[in-house]
Parts: sequence; structure tokens; C-alpha cells
Amino acid sequence: VESTVDVVVVGAGLAGLSVAKSLTDKGVSVLIVDKYGLGAGASGVPIALINPAAAKQANLSWNAKASMAAIVGLLDQTKSHSSREFFRKSGVLRPSVDAATLEAFSSSMSRHNYPSGWAKWLNREELNQFQPDLQHVGGALWVQEAYTVDVSEYLSALASIITLNGAEIRTGIVISSMSYDQIQDIWIVVFSDGSIIRSSKVIKSTGSSILDDPDWGWMPVHRIKGQMALYRSNHDIDWSHAIAARGYVAHLNGRDWVIGSTFEHTFDHLEPDAAGLQYLENKVDAILPTLRQESALLSQWAGIRVGTPNRLPIIGPHPKLKGQWVFTGLGSKGLLYSAYLGQLLAANLVSGDKIPMEVSTQRLNSDRA
Ligand SMILES: Cc1cc2nc3c(=O)[nH]c(=O)nc-3n(C[C@H](O)[C@H](O)[C@H](O)COP(=O)(O)OP(=O)(O)OC[C@H]3O[C@@H](n4cnc5c(N)ncnc54)[C@H](O)[C@@H]3O)c2cc1C
Repeated sequence: VESTVDVVVVGAGLAGLSVAKSLTDKGVSVLIVDKYGLGAGASGVPIALINPAAAKQANLSWNAKASMAAIVGLLDQTKSHSSREFFRKSGVLRPSVDAATLEAFSSSMSRHNYPSGWAKWLNREELNQFQPDLQHVGGALWVQEAYTVDVSEYLSALASIITLNGAEIRTGIVISSMSYDQIQDIWIVVFSDGSIIRSSKVIKSTGSSILDDPDWGWMPVHRIKGQMALYRSNHDIDWSHAIAARGYVAHLNGRDWVIGSTFEHTFDHLEPDAAGLQYLENKVDAILPTLRQESALLSQWAGIRVGTPNRLPIIGPHPKLKGQWVFTGLGSKGLLYSAYLGQLLAANLVSGDKIPMEVSTQRLNSDRA
């Protein structure tokens, strides 16, 4: 069977579904395909944070205001497409756990121009009052503009909207071959189920598989494995925020909570393991010494992030192949950046709008492409 669509999106994670949403909002016809299913890659992370002041330094992230507005807008649109509360404006508490985090977190607000109401510094006394059982060396950065999200449920809700917008999502298939018809300026894409699609534009949003893609493997990106552990507390958790020192503790509903995550730049398998669990347990015990004792381990999870040299995502057209775009490199900020960059990429595809250089494919040395 042969058919035609405006855009084929390969990969149904945060990247693929976000750009598909923006494209369908503009009336573009879209086919989304995934080798496995929605959120089968890193986007299957059990519970994730939208934290605009993340990582070791608590630096305010790139274009934080626009990124936050875009993802919060999408969360609001998706919430009526799920029967349960799958996100919460929880805030993230960033306790100082040693001299280095104290220095970085306490200076974050003077180093960065936070929008008003986004964050404040809690001194020792204020923090002890805020959460008495939390271990720290002298206060915490309280990031109020931060969210805790059940990503799988968010992706399902996003997929519902995209489908209502007219897009088709096919799972369990991959591209068998792709060839470019120079005369008609169109890609002829043959899928593993035998179907053939003609489309002038193809977006690759295949997460860590992009490193193996013959058309995109030249990019200077790397894989970073991350593990998480899920627990169930034997009593209700009486605080609703997330906590992120080095690693994060988060929970949404009920008694289940997670601890994340490892950052493994070298690894020899993709599964969660005992060393990862040990690392995570040490993290949570250092800040909340009794939480794990009052909980049972439910499961472990691992995923592969895509890191880039400037730690910012990569979106834009292929430097040499006409009609091919990429959306990758979301690193550990998939939620924060996905919605905004999906909008920027869709606007580039549809209207040729310029992509900021620091997130564009144009910043990469394309000699090897
Ligand atoms: C442990 C851990 C904790 C994290 N915590 C957070 C957090 O708190 N906050 C946050 O914002 N981010 C977090 N992240 C990062 C976030 O998960 C990623 O940035 C994001 O999921 C990447 O999305 P993606 O769509 O680019 O890739 P992926 O989610 O990996 O999606 C790629 C998709 O492409 C499909 N695919 C692959 N190859 C093919 C092919 N050949 N054909 C068709 N389909 C294919 C896969 O099946 C997959 O569904 C975390 C990541 C990890 C690992």
C-alpha cells in the first residue's frame, strides 16, 4: 500500500511526540512510527522532574522562561486526556549536601536572573522548619517553578491529542529503506510491514539509536546511561515537593516514590544493576536517612540519554540530505526542552523560521556528514 503524508516522524518519545503535536497544530499531516511503542526509550522514565535549575551548579537552564511556558502549556492541554492526575506543580527543593553544593545552590539566584516567584533561598532555620527530617549543611534552594510528571501518562495523553489532530501513530515497525526522488523532491520510505510512504520531510527522533543512524551517526553526541529505583513507603509521604541534591527523590500519588539517577558515561549493558542501586541508595540515605528503611523496593529501571558537547539539544535540517531533520540530544532535560524545541522545529519545517544557533544542527561540524 502506498500513501503520502507531509511529515514522517521516526521515534515516539518526548522529542517525536512534541514536534508531532506542534506540526498537527499547524494543520500538517503526520505519520509517527516507533520500533516498539510510545515512550519505549528514555522517555519511559517512571517519574521525572521539570526543574529549570538542575544539575550540580543549579544554573538556570537555557531559555528557561520560554521552555517552561511551552511545557506547562502542553501539560495543561493534555490533562483532560487522562483519567488521573499525572503531574503536579510540586516545586523542587535543592538542599546543600556539602561545601560545593552549598556554594553553587546559594549563589544560583545572584548568578542568574530568575523570573519573579521562581525560586528562593531557604537558610538553615527556614529549611529545618520546612522539612525537619532533611539532612543538609546549611540551607536549600527552593525552586517553586518546578513540576513532577508521570511521563508515560503524559505521552499517552499527548498521543491522544495528536491522533485527534489527524496524525497516525504506528508502532512495532521500522524503516527498511529510504530513497530520495530528486525529480519530485520526495522521500520514498519503505517500512518493515511492507507499507510505503511518500513524504517530503522525515524527522529522526530516535533517542540513543541516532548514534547508529547511517544519516546522522556523524554527530558529536554520546550515550549516558541512567538508572532509577522505585519504592513503596509503608506510610503516606507527608511532603509533596521533589528533592534534588545530587540525584532526586520524587513522588506523585500514593506511597510510591523514586530515586534517580545515575550518570554512566561508560557501561557494558543496558539493564539496571546492583551497582546502580547501591549508588542510588547512598544518595537517598544521605539526605533522608529513614525513608528507605520505611519502604520496600518495587523495581529498577534504566534508560539511555543522548548528551551533546554544549549540553543543549540538537534540532534542524541535515546539512547535506534534503528533506531530513533531526530532534535529539535532550540529555537529562527532556521534559523541560521537548515542548519548546518541538515548536521551534515545527516552525522551521513549515515556515523556514530560524533555529537559534546554539540548538541548531548548523552549529555542528558537518564535514563528516
Ligand atoms: C534515569 C533517567 C532519568 C531522567 N530523568 C529526567 C527528569 O527528571 N527530567 C527530564 O526532563 N528528563 C529526564 N530524563 C531524560 C529524558 O528521559 C530524555 O531526555 C528524553 O526521554 C529523551 O527523549 P527522546 O524522545 O529524545 O528519546 P527516547 O525517549 O529514547 O525516544 C526514542 C524513541 O525512538 C524509538 N526508536 C529508536 N530507534 C528507532 C527506529 N530505528 N525506528 C523507529 N523508532 C525507533 C524508540 O523505541 C523510542 O521510543 C531522564 C533520563 C534517564 C535515563
